[in-house]
Amino acid sequence: MLSEATIECYCGICTLTLTDNKASCHFQCGCNSCRQKIQFAQVWGGKKCVPLPTLFLMPSQLSDAQGLQHMQAFKLREDGASTSVYCSKCWSIIGVDNNGYHNKIFLNFPQFCSNRGDLTLPLVAYIWMEDYNDEIGPPPTENVPLFESIRYRQEHDRCFSIPEIKMTFSEPDIPIEGYTFRAVLNQLSPPKILGIQEHEDIFERFGGNS
Ligand SMILES: [Zn+2]
Ligand SMILES: [Zn+2]
Repeated sequence: MLSEATIECYCGICTLTLTDNKASCHFQCGCNSCRQKIQFAQVWGGKKCVPLPTLFLMPSQLSDAQGLQHMQAFKLREDGASTSVYCSKCWSIIGVDNNGYHNKIFLNFPQFCSNRGDLTLPLVAYIWMEDYNDEIGPPPTENVPLFESIRYRQEHDRCFSIPEIKMTFSEPDIPIEGYTFRAVLNQLSPPKILGIQEHEDIFERFGGNS
């Protein structure tokens, strides 16, 4: 049986109730965009960013969502594939949608909100490590697959040969309907475009200290 769980912001105003609580993939991501999303929240009073954020992909189906009037959607770049939803009071990151998620999953950073889902799945891989270096943080420690990028077919195929990754990102046989993270996103005001470049320093642009 599927069991429900909530994802909640730190101030408690914004809540998503998941129909299926079990995370389907678990990464640590070295990409600039993840850090920029987190640092943008940090500028407004959210938690301090970490060098290699932990991310979980959660099933997108919801039974309830609260606090939509306090949720705000942002995109880093006009042409960016992902849209992040924040609590505008406490700057927790509720979740992130991406064009490639097929309305099936959404991304969550459990270090930057309260995720009461089943996050027992061990780390599957380090991803997008081409953006990471010693100036950002210490070397990765876990003995799991590590991908610099999936720019080339060989690395892409090697990445998607991992069962959790293949399952999580495969297109569903029939379009997903019903109340999903994307449905919540579509109820919010259109995302604000930050116009941040890929290598731009968030703190230089918006102020605040790293
Ligand atoms: Zn909040
Ligand atoms: Zn990332």
